[in-house]
Amino acid sequence: VFQLSVPLNFLGSVYRELRQSLLDMETLFNLQKVNVTVKEVANPRPLALTKGGEIRFENVQFGYNTNRPILKNLSMTIPAGKKVAIVGPSGCGKSTILRLLFRSYDVQGGKIFIDGQDIKEVSLDSLRQSIGVVPQDTPLFNATIEHNIRYGRIDASPEDVRKAAQRAQIHDHISRLPEGYDTKVGERGLMISGGEKQRLAVSRLLLKDPPLLFFDEATSALDTYTEQTVMQNINSILKEKKRTSLFVAHRLRTIFDSDIIFVLRDGVVAEQGTHPELLELKGLYAELWSAQEVTLGQDPELERNLDEE
Ligand code: ATP
Repeated sequence: VFQLSVPLNFLGSVYRELRQSLLDMETLFNLQKVNVTVKEVANPRPLALTKGGEIRFENVQFGYNTNRPILKNLSMTIPAGKKVAIVGPSGCGKSTILRLLFRSYDVQGGKIFIDGQDIKEVSLDSLRQSIGVVPQDTPLFNATIEHNIRYGRIDASPEDVRKAAQRAQIHDHISRLPEGYDTKVGERGLMISGGEKQRLAVSRLLLKDPPLLFFDEATSALDTYTEQTVMQNINSILKEKKRTSLFVAHRLRTIFDSDIIFVLRDGVVAEQGTHPELLELKGLYAELWSAQEVTLGQDPELERNLDEE
């Protein structure tokens, strides 16, 4: 009896952790707050990433209320393995695009394809397993820092947890805490700053290492220097592993090196191209860029990067 109970307990705890990590993703997208209407088709097939994760929006229409469309006729292709950014005025629907991809909501018109498969036709589980998100605000659990990062991948080794934290520029900070990785965080634990929270979220994502990575204002609370270092680490991982990544960003300096930048306005893609192409266009992007450029003079590192472009 004793011999049996050990593995059963172990399985029980793995099951609880698994459930918790699923809940985690749902919390991230505030699923509990919305009337969830997404349904699976009968006998859905798992998503097969046969082309390395190409994402295609075809005439997508969506609104949270029927009388107020957010995405009106959105078409765009995010090539597999590329770094892509979505920019545009506040409230234009950038985060909504990520929620549609995760199927927190379904499109009301048009289609979204991943590697040629309509995301409505594949199993929800396989879709969501393929996606990792750093959302605008990451919930932390009342658990240790180690656990909070490990939600990314519950079977990760302690070394992997630390490696992910290093790449997210939070390892040194954690190591200096009296209890290190055993420090409790969350509502009843250590108060941590918005920037530290974001870096924990990035650690979690790097540990999960999904084929599709979404960053929703993921570094907005970091200072310029830390933001650049975290971005450089993320960029080198994305390049090395050829992951498809989608960045929603206000600060254009975090995304100016993207392979493609989509500029959203009034529910459609108003402009698209690389940073130099969009500047050349002298449209909305060029306007946003010059509005932000005012602060560039204080940022020699960025100027150097731009010169190398
Ligand atoms: P920001 O840059 O300010 O983060 P965004 O471009 O990411 O904005 P979204 O968060 O996608 O914008 O929201 C698009 C619009 O939909 C906004 O006007 C927002 O107020 C509205 N909206 C977002 N979530 C909901 C919701 N759950 N119910 C109703 N309206 C919503």
